[in-house]
Amino acid sequence: MDTHAPLPNPPPEGGRGYFERLSDDDLATCVHCGLCLDACPTFRQTGLETESPRGRIYLMTQWKRGSLPFTEDQARHIDLCLGCRTCEAVCPSGVPYGRIIEAGRAEVERLRKPSPKRWIARTALRQLVAKPRRLRSFGAATKAAQAVGLTSIVRSGRQLPHMRPRFQPPTGGIAPPIGERKHRVAFLVGCVMPILYPQSHEAAVNLLQLAGCEVWFPRAERCCGALLAHNGDLEGAAGLRDANMQVYRDANFEALIVDSAGCGSHLKDFYPELNGRVKDLSEWLVEIGLPAPQREVKMRVTYQDACHLAHAQRIRKQPRDLIRAVPGVEFVEMRHPDICCGAAGLYSTLEPAMSARILQEKLDDLESTHADVVVTANPGCQMQLESGLRARGSTMRVEHVSELVARAFLH
Ligand code: SF4
Ligand code: SF4
Repeated sequence: MDTHAPLPNPPPEGGRGYFERLSDDDLATCVHCGLCLDACPTFRQTGLETESPRGRIYLMTQWKRGSLPFTEDQARHIDLCLGCRTCEAVCPSGVPYGRIIEAGRAEVERLRKPSPKRWIARTALRQLVAKPRRLRSFGAATKAAQAVGLTSIVRSGRQLPHMRPRFQPPTGGIAPPIGERKHRVAFLVGCVMPILYPQSHEAAVNLLQLAGCEVWFPRAERCCGALLAHNGDLEGAAGLRDANMQVYRDANFEALIVDSAGCGSHLKDFYPELNGRVKDLSEWLVEIGLPAPQREVKMRVTYQDACHLAHAQRIRKQPRDLIRAVPGVEFVEMRHPDICCGAAGLYSTLEPAMSARILQEKLDDLESTHADVVVTANPGCQMQLESGLRARGSTMRVEHVSELVARAFLH
């Protein structure tokens, strides 16, 4: 997988900031074949070239060459991109769309007049999400989610379904293996997951212990910076990366385990020093193996690919393998499981109309499976799907892959 060269922090003064670092070679990789168009959620909804990967790459190329002036109207085409990277996964020419759109978004944020909504989002990310102690002391999970704008909950004022105590790493920062120690891994606790989905983390850690891992929770670890980078704040993201590398650089661990697809993708792209040691939970568990399952779980289950797992990390098979390994599960694929649900970090708050259109198509596909549970691997997807299913009065539940698998493997 391509990785970013380490970004300077702060960004270069003068010139054109981060956009200047976007290479002409990256942009020229697009040969305008159009094979990505039908895979792009915003093109599927609008049928407009300007809302397609090809149109956006053309726009950024013209901006970079100075052939088109920067305007707020044109910047809206960049805003409307989900950053889902489906285009990157299907592109036969190998366009590195993830790093193109991150640089484009950073440049848009640098050039445009600040709006109150975007200022609030950026400030919340820097002051709350990037500082876990502040986020924790900020109070209830719903308030935190609303403040950082991770979901349409913000629009509706609906409460989150599960208000559980936040995830707490064990005293001493180590969870021992069950049985013989075979591996030593670090675990990314992150910023939002421990507050909104502590049960997913708990299941993930228990599965790791069961697979013979000693799990280390680095005390000084901070938010990975994914939400900042996806929101165009590359400078803030680089600051967090530099702080985290102080923690990871000389530490002894085989793999850094991540159970949030957006964080895993960002770590793999943005932390080149970790050098292949970042692993999604499903990727790692399939690699090292689990003991035999303990019980049947009689459920009809479907799986929603998290974009940053399927498209950015190209991990599709492993979560499905884990689900299929659960005895009693009837697994059913939905139509287009790898099309975005419209969550995309802050997108559902910043672009609610397009997010809602994309979500409706996803809910139709989900309901047609008649599944009891939809499994996914990212907190943003979990919140978006829960919110949409609840609004429709559906009884379908949403679970992280760790929760479903833990039902069969743990006592
Ligand atoms: S991004 Fe890739 S698939 Fe899309 S038009 Fe360009 S070359 Fe073709
Ligand atoms: S990242 Fe997603 S929304 Fe953006 S251009 Fe690519 S496929 Fe379309």
